[in-house]
Amino acid sequence: MKQPYRYQGRQVPPDPQNAFRLGEGKISGYCSVALGALSLLAVLAYLYPSWLTTTELRRVYDAGQLQQVLKYGMYFSLFFGVLTFALNGYRRLGALGMVLTLGAFALGGYRVPVGPVEPRTLSLGVDWLILAFLGSVAVFTTLEKLFPKYRNQNILRPEWGLDLLYFCINHLAISAILIYANYHASHFDWAISPAVQGAVQAMPVWLQVVLIILCADFVLYWEHRLFHEVRWLWPVHAVHHSVEHMDWLAGSRGHFVQIFSERAMVMIPLYLLGASEAALNAYVAFAALQAVLIHCNLGLPFGPLKYLLVTPQFHHWHHGSEQPALDTNYSAHTVLFDRLFGTYHMPVAHWPAEYGTTVRLPRTFMAQTLYPLRQWLKRLR
Ligand SMILES: [Zn+2]
Ligand SMILES: [Zn+2]
Repeated sequence: MKQPYRYQGRQVPPDPQNAFRLGEGKISGYCSVALGALSLLAVLAYLYPSWLTTTELRRVYDAGQLQQVLKYGMYFSLFFGVLTFALNGYRRLGALGMVLTLGAFALGGYRVPVGPVEPRTLSLGVDWLILAFLGSVAVFTTLEKLFPKYRNQNILRPEWGLDLLYFCINHLAISAILIYANYHASHFDWAISPAVQGAVQAMPVWLQVVLIILCADFVLYWEHRLFHEVRWLWPVHAVHHSVEHMDWLAGSRGHFVQIFSERAMVMIPLYLLGASEAALNAYVAFAALQAVLIHCNLGLPFGPLKYLLVTPQFHHWHHGSEQPALDTNYSAHTVLFDRLFGTYHMPVAHWPAEYGTTVRLPRTFMAQTLYPLRQWLKRLR
């Protein structure tokens, strides 16, 4: 008789060298650098909004009010920089933070006049990067500290810098991704049905949101499954699976081909359903938060929701490198399609012992970006 699989659980030993401890100057040093870098970027975005801000996002925020946030960001960066020196620890970090903030002051600081906005199709999403970073750190690191799955895992866990680089690049590329996704969806003009769109628009908003979630999930399920099961596509998606430490930043790791294709595919149902703007906005917010949440180092049990929605435990199993978890849990939003198509793996009493790919990928951004190309060439030879 076949023995049942024995789940081991994951051991994360303490790593005091990379831990944040109060009073050492390390926390204040990193805060000073982060706020200094964001302040400098924000001032540049105010100076050159046509080049450095996102058309879709500009409609949502008030640039004038955000100058107040910038003001506090700059002063706090200086405060943390001084504190780092006072604590006599990580002085280089404190100095770097202050230099970045002084650079932001030199360029006009928080009183910088908002530059003229000329409509440009392609720009860098510096505004999206800043807002998403501040929001994610505030929400997700707080959740991870309050309800960690692995208490010993540090914020600065191995390869955090690599994932931060992916985070920055993916956010800066937002307008290129949207342009490509809209262009891709426009090929499906022929499938638009005024009758279907009319019926969707007649629904209450909450029902439209549920419908979008299900349709998007169906498309994302199959797109994701193809990336796993088509031999030629796997090297692209393997980059996302090369993370070996799960947290809010880990989900950012992804090859640009995968990121562009994912957004382009999900745009098709959104385009064809013709749902109201309120429903679309609600879906986008839900999808964005869930995508980060499911990678988090989060031990919250989620109650009955875990049988309905994709939760951290469910998606952590997708990243698990143990045999029973390989090529399972493809869904992005609900567990429905994994249940339906036989790829559901959720031993609720257990979590993976290890994350990553069975064949280890190179560990730098450049090598990972070139990884699919190298694999394809190898197979051609
Ligand atoms: Zn996957
Ligand atoms: Zn993932």
